[in-house]
Amino acid sequence: MWDVFYTLLGIVISSTIAFAYVASKYKGLLERNWERHSFAWYCEAFPHAARAGMEVACRHCGSGRVTVKNLMNHTFMRSHCCENCGETLYFSREKM
Ligand SMILES: [Zn+2]
Repeated sequence: MWDVFYTLLGIVISSTIAFAYVASKYKGLLERNWERHSFAWYCEAFPHAARAGMEVACRHCGSGRVTVKNLMNHTFMRSHCCENCGETLYFSREKM
């Protein structure tokens, strides 16, 4: 009886730890991806779409209508997306 209980308890605890580990690794990957794809990166990688003193344009369709969305879930990050084709262009930190 207790053998089964402790076996189940062990499975629950180890799978919880495994899930938390995988979730933290995944969040780290996402954060690195957001940091890498900043506005500075966008200007450098796509100079035809964004330069200093120029309105930002979509690198896919060329539209100048860019909307900002908060990513939420305590990420404190925002994505800048094209209103025309919906592509995400770059990421920035939320203003605190
Ligand atoms: Zn677009």
